[in-house]
Amino acid sequence: MSSPSHKDSEIGLPLGEDSALRVLPGVDGGPRGAALPRGFSARPEAKPEEIAAALLAGSRSGLSRAITLIESNAPRHRPLARELLEILSATPGRALRIGISGVPGAGKSTFIEAFGNLLCDEGHKVAVLAVDPSSTRSRGSILGDKTRMETLSRREECFIRPSPTSGALGGVTRKTRETILACEAAGCDVILVETVGVGQSEIAVHSMVDIFVLVLIAGAGDEIQGMKKGIVEIADLLVVNKADGSNRPSALATRAQFEQVMHFLTPGTALWTPPVLAASSIERTGVPEVWQAIRTFEDIMKSHGAFTARRREQAVEWWRSLVDQEWRSRLFANTAIAEKARLLEEEVIEERLLPSLAAERLLEGLKI
Ligand code: GDP
Repeated sequence: MSSPSHKDSEIGLPLGEDSALRVLPGVDGGPRGAALPRGFSARPEAKPEEIAAALLAGSRSGLSRAITLIESNAPRHRPLARELLEILSATPGRALRIGISGVPGAGKSTFIEAFGNLLCDEGHKVAVLAVDPSSTRSRGSILGDKTRMETLSRREECFIRPSPTSGALGGVTRKTRETILACEAAGCDVILVETVGVGQSEIAVHSMVDIFVLVLIAGAGDEIQGMKKGIVEIADLLVVNKADGSNRPSALATRAQFEQVMHFLTPGTALWTPPVLAASSIERTGVPEVWQAIRTFEDIMKSHGAFTARRREQAVEWWRSLVDQEWRSRLFANTAIAEKARLLEEEVIEERLLPSLAAERLLEGLKI
């Protein structure tokens, strides 16, 4: 275990003023207008090539500044962020992207604390990101709470970034995807993306990772722990956490229950039946086995070309959805069209017009 470090800013990633844990007040110049944290104030105005150079040279503060620019909601920062991403995309990373999901209280952050330390001990450089569009908690508190991931947050090899501020899932998803690229360009080779929301945010995380891990706890197998069946269906690996002390027998029973459940579900890939493992994040037992299973999954997927295929699918889906969003926003930026849409929608609501006909009518006569 490395000791806490506060020396300046190379990746292997020492903590400095830019450490994620010191970013609690918020990270952008967005509409909610929160003050920028210390050390970030004028930074988004810096030149993209300067930020990229710092990041590519392994500077932790360069990475922080890149993410701050990426996360900014200020329209003037978007072209700068685009320029930055163009530079960074010339140096594609080779990180393994792991999604970690589960109901609040399942022990995701405790698991990440144990798992992340294990990865760092093995010499990996790890980034921990979060997707949390639903949070009403104060900005940046999700992973920024110092009691969460306490030892991991002190490791030089680990970069923890709080969730971008709550807002529309699309915006949060975009920021997290771009942040993944920045972390990879900065040399992180394992990216953990935690999702704290329920439902849609799991789907969003699934669409940006190579393997999707679901953290479960004992009991409640029937109702699948408040999650929709679909969430279990998209998992590549299930971990029944808190398999320790007097809780261990029920954790093992839950594991057996979920193993049965998995037989009834269609796996995401014919190459792999998602295993159900038991672990204790507090005692750190079963955690190396989780990593082993992830590596096995990676090997199998890679040896069949499925790893790259999944990434390509994700890229295509993502680009298509961006085109859709862009079209919509351009369309409705036209006030006459927006008004026409409002009137047509009223007719749809009152069942005077079929949705399909309304859509046709909105778009008829439009020249592209
Ligand atoms: P999250 O909301 O999913 O991130 O859950 P947390 O990691 O914050 O954990 C919720 C609670 O469960 C905390 O009180 C943890 O100490 C506890 N917890 C997490 N993992 C374990 C474990 O492996 N064993 C036991 N006994 N408790 C755990």
